[in-house]
Amino acid sequence: MKIVILSQKASLYSTRRLKEAGEARGHEVHVIDYLRCYMNITAHKPQVIYQGKPLSEVDAVIPRIGASQTFYGTAVVRQFEMIGVFTANESQAISRSRDKLRCLQILAREGIGLPVTGFAHSTKDIEGLIDTVGGAPLVIKLLEGTQGIGVVLAETYQAAKSVIEAFRGLDANILVQEFIKEAGGMDIRCLVVGEKVIAAMKRQGAPGEFRSNLHRGGTAAKIKLTPEERSTAVRAAKAMGLRVSGVDILRSNHGPVVMEVNSSPGLEGIEAATDIDVAGKIVEFLEKNAKNNTSRDRIKY
Ligand code: ADP
Repeated sequence: MKIVILSQKASLYSTRRLKEAGEARGHEVHVIDYLRCYMNITAHKPQVIYQGKPLSEVDAVIPRIGASQTFYGTAVVRQFEMIGVFTANESQAISRSRDKLRCLQILAREGIGLPVTGFAHSTKDIEGLIDTVGGAPLVIKLLEGTQGIGVVLAETYQAAKSVIEAFRGLDANILVQEFIKEAGGMDIRCLVVGEKVIAAMKRQGAPGEFRSNLHRGGTAAKIKLTPEERSTAVRAAKAMGLRVSGVDILRSNHGPVVMEVNSSPGLEGIEAATDIDVAGKIVEFLEKNAKNNTSRDRIKY
């Protein structure tokens, strides 16, 4: 197969591993900077052009679109879809997953366990908002945040109120969430490919830190999932329409709750923690599915 990895940098761990894994399985793999792709949008012959030449006879695309480049990145993926190329994740599913609120609304509709979550636009509604999630302690999240930045634990009602007012004063969009204390600063990242969890790790926050992000000093180790956690992760990925995803779960008193579904999950942490060739499994999935490229995103939201 001819595989194109859409990534801004060939030296990034995940990009490098996907290229290696593809080549090890006998494929021709190109890393293409999607910001340097340009397109001709005509009815008869849509193309993606890179360094002056159309990218032709591509069998599969692996999008690794950075959060800050979603708009242009998904346009490039969409153009490949127009040409009929199979993609590890469809453009619509990537856009959908980038919006945390939309993501939670879709998961809720499917009856997937979530931390009780609220959001509001006006600061006049703060008290009602805090009440909907059961009062303090609670977690406040910036909708645009990643890697744990902009995730704040407010221990008291007053603290919650001030933080929400401060964020809203800056015009930042936030959501407010029940604090899952019993998770003890641990979360679970499930790597879902197709309809299977192919690897899972737990991440534990640094002492005194409720956020388990590796970027915030957390540590990772492999973990055995319960059947319920496994099926929650698969259902969450499916609800979002993602073929390859990282589903983040907390262990709560009321069962597994999903925090987020990521469309470009990093491979470094999970390959190191589990010793599983995640990149190889993603390429294997493309081998099985690229030929009969018939399924289309049918999620309505
Ligand atoms: P980001 O997308 O920036 O990583 P997350 O929503 O994943 O933000 O939150 C970062 C970390 O904070 C999570 O990995 C988890 O450990 C912790 N966390 C987030 N939400 C909650 C919550 N409602 N209850 C307990 N811990 C939480």
